[in-house]
Amino acid sequence: MDTAKATVLYARATPAFDDRVERALGLLIEAAEKHAERIVQASSLGAEDQVVTDLIARYRLPITVATLDTGKLHGETLALIGAVRERYAIAIERYRPVQEAVVTFVGRHGEDAMRQSVDLRKACCALRKVEPLGRMLAGREAWVTGLRRQQSSERSDVEFQETDDAGRAKINPLADWSWADVWHYIKTYDVPYNALHDRFYPSIGCAPCTRAVAVGEDIRAGRWWWEQGVKECGLHVEPLRAGMEHAS
Ligand code: SF4
Repeated sequence: MDTAKATVLYARATPAFDDRVERALGLLIEAAEKHAERIVQASSLGAEDQVVTDLIARYRLPITVATLDTGKLHGETLALIGAVRERYAIAIERYRPVQEAVVTFVGRHGEDAMRQSVDLRKACCALRKVEPLGRMLAGREAWVTGLRRQQSSERSDVEFQETDDAGRAKINPLADWSWADVWHYIKTYDVPYNALHDRFYPSIGCAPCTRAVAVGEDIRAGRWWWEQGVKECGLHVEPLRAGMEHAS
């Protein structure tokens, strides 16, 4: 398997990098103060989220770090949870899908349901991601993401601070960061990151739905690559009401 250090491939110092770090940190500090104890970072354990977690941990901000353990994550991604605990002495909360729902879905449609149709892929994302996210966000006033405008055309208008469909504050401190910025930060602060990034996986999701990308391919080309159109799972482009209802 081809490997190359992601920090060597992607890290590059760009103008005003320090300003962007300052602004990201400022947003996190402000949000932590405003939503004390009722704010969570919804981490995908990807490169951007590791930057956000590093800022939270190094500045000891009272923001819970949590992730969706879909039951389909790569071993490398699960290993990162332990690496974060070791490095920062913080435990990442894990939100898993309802086991009965998974058993019923897999029993009816099979383990590879996501490849059979877009509807089944979305149904899989709904039960493994959207519903657990609803539980993660229940009772919180705000959440933090690693969304960046440059990630895709669907994310080109991401704001630093938004309000989600449930009226909750959504903080995107890296909204104006480039991919080079993310890796320059990771390299500068020696942030632990997913080993898959060294194998040309820029965007990491569930194992059956993520592949490496080729030089020149879009950053999200490795997600649901057999589908055409919008490459999103419903966490950031659709209302969270379904998940919230299930949680309640
Ligand atoms: Fe299911 Fe794939 Fe969505 Fe993960 S990314 S929840 S495996 S369809």
